[in-house]
Amino acid sequence: DGRWSLNGTIALVTGGTKGIGHAIVEELAKFGASVYTCSRNEAELNECLKQWADKKFNVTGSVCDVSSRIERQKLMENVSTVFGGKLDILINNAGIGFGKPAAECTAEDYSHIMTTNFESALHLSQLAYPLMKASSSGSIVFISSIGTVIVYEGASIYSASKGAMNQITKNLACEWARDNIRVNCIAPSVIKTPLVANLGLDEFLMKEASSVPLGRLGEPEEVASVAAFLCLPAASYVTGQIICVDGGRAQGSF
Ligand code: NDP
Repeated sequence: DGRWSLNGTIALVTGGTKGIGHAIVEELAKFGASVYTCSRNEAELNECLKQWADKKFNVTGSVCDVSSRIERQKLMENVSTVFGGKLDILINNAGIGFGKPAAECTAEDYSHIMTTNFESALHLSQLAYPLMKASSSGSIVFISSIGTVIVYEGASIYSASKGAMNQITKNLACEWARDNIRVNCIAPSVIKTPLVANLGLDEFLMKEASSVPLGRLGEPEEVASVAAFLCLPAASYVTGQIICVDGGRAQGSF
């Protein structure tokens, strides 16, 4: 059934070497998409590309720091060259975590987080627009956070970068609807990825897991399946949505 297939589609997933992005690359590839991905660490990227080739997934990629405007332009040029100007799916996943009390945040903290997490996603969507328009269909998915729904201590700037993402989801969805480009956003709660493991907040994670109504933290694959659904023709009437993938966490603390 073509409504549940991504055969013949081209997808760009930023930050595909680890965590949620890695799981999304694999999920889209399993549904038949040709996937292009990027990360900053070249050795890790090449290792992932090798593993995907071994699994017979159609995945290519190149190094890109999405916080750089010039590197974003270069990335989209690469995608356009590799796929003959075609692009159907953009997953704005690459992002960094950040925690600090608001009173201590510096101008550099603000610009680093906003540039990496928000401006990159907005600009890549702008760069993808002409390619998707040429394909006469498109699906853009942002990876936001439930930090935009409930407040996590020390997460003011991080959550603001994601709140801005939630907002452009709605605006781009409306502006680009007549081009048959759908724009949606996933807001996950805490997912077991290297980002979270590297925070070194074991006590917080134990407490957080027990606060989730489903009683545990999430897995990257549980976000990836929702991202894939949003890109499928089966989701053809879904646009402008912010979907919590959170085990019920946004409903409160249990
Ligand atoms: P990880 O740190 O585990 O993986 C991030 C991936 O993105 C890596 O492949 C990393 O590779 C890449 N990346 C990071 N910065 C850049 C950059 N500047 N340019 C290009 N690639 C980059 O993160 P997660 O999988 O946990 O998070 C993915 C997204 O999900 C983020 O946007 C995060 O904010 C969001 N999220 C995560 C949650 C969680 O609990 N894990 C909860 C809610 C949202 P490299 O470092 O080599 O560049």
